[in-house]
Amino acid sequence: MLKSKASPVSLEQRNTTRLRVLEHIRAKGSVSRIDIASALQTSPATVTAATADLISAGLVKETESQAQSKSGKRGRPRVLLQLDGQMHLVAGLKVARQVISVILVDFEGNELASHKYALDKARMSPQEFVSAIREALEETCSQIDRSVAHLAGVSIGVAGLVDANKNFVHWSSSITERNIDFSHLLSNELPCPAFVDNDANLVAKAEQLFGLGKGLKNFLVVTIEHGVGLGIVLDGKLYRGERGCGAEFGHTKVQLDGALCQCGQRGCLEAYVGDYALIREMTVTGHNNDMETVSDIHDRANSGDDRASSVLARAGQMFGLGISNLINLYDPECIIVSGAQISFEHLCSNEVMTRIQNGVVNVDAPLPQIKVHHWGDMMWAKGAAAYGIEQISILKVKELTANAS
Ligand SMILES: [Zn+2]
Repeated sequence: MLKSKASPVSLEQRNTTRLRVLEHIRAKGSVSRIDIASALQTSPATVTAATADLISAGLVKETESQAQSKSGKRGRPRVLLQLDGQMHLVAGLKVARQVISVILVDFEGNELASHKYALDKARMSPQEFVSAIREALEETCSQIDRSVAHLAGVSIGVAGLVDANKNFVHWSSSITERNIDFSHLLSNELPCPAFVDNDANLVAKAEQLFGLGKGLKNFLVVTIEHGVGLGIVLDGKLYRGERGCGAEFGHTKVQLDGALCQCGQRGCLEAYVGDYALIREMTVTGHNNDMETVSDIHDRANSGDDRASSVLARAGQMFGLGISNLINLYDPECIIVSGAQISFEHLCSNEVMTRIQNGVVNVDAPLPQIKVHHWGDMMWAKGAAAYGIEQISILKVKELTANAS
């Protein structure tokens, strides 16, 4: 707290201004103080104070641009502000069943290194989970002759019910125990701040920043891989729910007392649509044990196998039911179906579109667009890194306040 000087502007307001200035510089690449003041509708003095703080925190740096006058003569150089990209190294991770995908970026989001760290088991104890993350990070940092000690922050995407504000994982298919507070486990293992979030939220963040969600205010991202996830962006912001357990689309019920889900309940959407559910349906009779991926099931269906065709058709119908429920709830501009899986045809067939159309309340307007975006795990990791940069920015700005006391 600033004790000696009574300020009419609260610290919270000052931090909000600093963050707004920082985000504006990030969005523009390089921008002058006067243009920031005009865009944020605030006074040049306020912007000057905020940028001085951001420069001292090593988040922003000054550069000069040589303005050209109309006569072709060199004008006075303009001082522009840019992010100080190389100052902070941020890691984004996506934990999947067989692999941890890692990406290292600078503070501007430029990729510096990436790595896939193989996991020998799909479900880990909480300690095994953080140890694997540490090893994956060490291997990635060594690619650019850095170590974990150089990281400013780490952001981890994991499937399941995650309270991101508390790094608390209620449940995840990657972790053997429920209700784990990862704050201490991660701070014991890593020398920098670490953030855990639901992986579908991070995909939504990546779609918003780099992908098909760019420029959209209201959109949904449905992720399909082992399970089914949902990221909700409303009015440009990620919606997480009150307990961090919102958007569990995969565990909405599509059948009373239906198929057993990996969450322990019955009739969940992902128990019909997730990769594991399709493979389980194919192998349940003890036959077709060579089915390992959804692509194998597609190949079998394409060669005339009735069981494979009916498993895929049922998944499509359940998916259509789920999507029509989403449209009825959110009325989004667009739904992006995202995942590493190559074979989504069974979810985009004419029969599925008809099912969606029939399930949506009838208004005299076209359905929202449904777009498929094939993303590898690295793009999920990139979304995690973007979340990491955002969280590091907030922490660094809060440190400014702490240092001023
Ligand atoms: Zn479930």
